[in-house]
Amino acid sequence: MTGFDSILIVDWSAASARAPARPSRDAIWLGLVRAGAPQEPVYCRTRIEAEQRIAAIMEAERAAGRRLLAGFDFPFGYPSGFCRRVTGGDDPLELWDWLAARITDNETGANNRFDVAETLNALYRSPGPFWGKTHKDRWPGIPYAKAGVAYDSVPENRACDLVAKAASSCFQLCYHPTVGSQALIGLPMLSRLRRLPGARVWPFQPAHDASTVLAEIWPGLIEPAVRAALKRDPGAIRDAVQVDLLSRALSRMPAGDLHAMMSDLPPAAQEEAWILGAGHAEMLTDLAQQAPSPSQPPAPPPLRNDCFAMPAGVEWTPVEDALAALQAALHPIARITDCPLPEGSGRILAAPVTALRASPPHANSAVDGYGFAHAALPPGDPVLPLIPGRAAAGAPFDGPVPGGRALRILTGAILPEGVDTIVLEEDTREGDGQIAFRAGIKPGANARRAGEDMASGAAVLPEGRVLSPADLALLASVGAGKLRVYERLRVAVLSTGDELIEAGGTAERGQIFDANRPMLLAQIARWGMEAIDMGRIPDDRDALRAALDAAAQRADVILTSGGASAGDEDHVSRLLTEAGAMQQWRIALKPGRPLALGLWRGAPVFGLPGNPVAALVCTLIFARPALGLLAGAGWRAPQGFNVPAAFAKSKKPGRREYLRARIRSGRAEVFASEGSGRVSSLSWAEGLVELPDGAAQIAHGDPVRYIPYGSFDL
Ligand code: AMP
Ligand code: MG
Repeated sequence: MTGFDSILIVDWSAASARAPARPSRDAIWLGLVRAGAPQEPVYCRTRIEAEQRIAAIMEAERAAGRRLLAGFDFPFGYPSGFCRRVTGGDDPLELWDWLAARITDNETGANNRFDVAETLNALYRSPGPFWGKTHKDRWPGIPYAKAGVAYDSVPENRACDLVAKAASSCFQLCYHPTVGSQALIGLPMLSRLRRLPGARVWPFQPAHDASTVLAEIWPGLIEPAVRAALKRDPGAIRDAVQVDLLSRALSRMPAGDLHAMMSDLPPAAQEEAWILGAGHAEMLTDLAQQAPSPSQPPAPPPLRNDCFAMPAGVEWTPVEDALAALQAALHPIARITDCPLPEGSGRILAAPVTALRASPPHANSAVDGYGFAHAALPPGDPVLPLIPGRAAAGAPFDGPVPGGRALRILTGAILPEGVDTIVLEEDTREGDGQIAFRAGIKPGANARRAGEDMASGAAVLPEGRVLSPADLALLASVGAGKLRVYERLRVAVLSTGDELIEAGGTAERGQIFDANRPMLLAQIARWGMEAIDMGRIPDDRDALRAALDAAAQRADVILTSGGASAGDEDHVSRLLTEAGAMQQWRIALKPGRPLALGLWRGAPVFGLPGNPVAALVCTLIFARPALGLLAGAGWRAPQGFNVPAAFAKSKKPGRREYLRARIRSGRAEVFASEGSGRVSSLSWAEGLVELPDGAAQIAHGDPVRYIPYGSFDL
């Protein structure tokens, strides 16, 4: 969930003229992999046109709820100290604005980059640092050649240029590669693009909640892959190949690797910027050379940032409204994969299954007995001569059974030609090579028709089905061997609270055993999801932040317990609020205090109450259907039924109540204490009694709705 859904790579150009109408090299090219699907590279004739197209792509991806990584092939920063010399500060984004205020550019490609470079050179006493120009006799402040430029007051290269072994410097304005010119004329564009909604600049700005991340990248990192592609297709345009391969390479990179590549940076990157992938050229080249894998379906789109928004101005949200909001906001986020049928129990079908073969495939006998043609029976009690041989399961009888004769036949045997009816062995007498039985047997008795259970090609099970052991029998019988399923949803579980220690440990005064984590991990596993244990986290903002980061990297969804309301030590809700994607859901529900729902680095977080009873009830009522939907199983409401109450209760209006309950002698009894601190009540119970939102007077024998634990797959 930390990754990107779409990748855009921009091959920039500093050309002073409009590029030809026919797509050609040394112009601007855009490579785009949109939601996992590579697009044709786009050719832009001018920088103005390119900027418009890039802005449109950013907006389209944002609107579709997809996270975009946009890479540009020119430096985002200058060597250390340069920024301060120009702007007086160390914020490289101010330098972008400084340039944007001075650089002019237009549809013809005419621009003033040499004038601006000359102004910049004037800030230094010795010649340079910018050098190289198109006209020897113009811009006296710019040396024509590098000879004589001493990089003593500013380094020639940035730290990342050295790591990436790039041959170019951002001070070289002319002669290939014209990196210096590209940056002078590209940074003003970035200064505008970064102000579009949801855009952030890597590595200068925190970007975990950004919809577009702008990053510097360098196609030289995958040069061996580019060269190999051009050798295979000598007619291809190098720039188009570069952006195409680089966007594909990044789109194939596992989210964790990409995240690590973007996080592990030296301090210099904060001022000088960094080339994404510097030091990882080999890995990127390998990814660029991977053959496209058409069998891999595209990743599903991520959740929208506002997916947990609740109606504004509502003080207490009724349970039904909260459930409806969750159902509307969530969609499957698990990828699709194949799984062998024997491993399919608990997996979720990602595609409907149709019968490859009828079940049963052939007409066969349902019993051990004797088979014959009903139409040829004589009047009265039949006596039929037996023909030699027999038909058994797996050992069919070859050849026809003539009318008026019978054949020994066993359960599961294919009906031989001429047989449509079987008389049960127990109903016959045998002797002298004949069988005798009573008149009156019905035509077709004890015979199973071919396809009577499932016809070949019939719909067997729908997409979203959570496969039971019985389903495996059905799927096997219609010929399925490999199943298209969703990857198991990865659910991270962590407990918060300074008071918690591990079960079985030695408790000091004030400490309690962490009860929620073993409960939630086991419940997740029972739901067929991958439970990831993230441990216990103290009530400390930084520790929790680090734990959520780690959880978001390893899992699709995060379940926390404790710290979810609005108190001093309620760091879960504080952090989610800080991340800007938190909703404090005050649900009219007992037991259960506010449920904190939010996104952390793209991963939905269910901040459950700390109280084990409330934590489990919230898990069953809210997390179960929501996780099911995210996992691909669709929205599943638990099935309940009415039973007479074995208790009396006067219920106040205003919130729905779930009582720990069980059925004895056909009546629902409830746990003696309603206190939500009573962990024993959860074990005592075998289900929940659901009392409606409004007021209710329940007398002994009144019907109440009982939902067995089994309906929650608990
Ligand atoms: P909190 O929501 O953090 O205010 O916690 C509410 C109550 O639940 C407090 O009494 C906590 O000690 C208790 N609690 C929190 N987390 C757990 C846990 N993992 N296991 C058992 N009790 C817990
Ligand atoms: Mg707590």
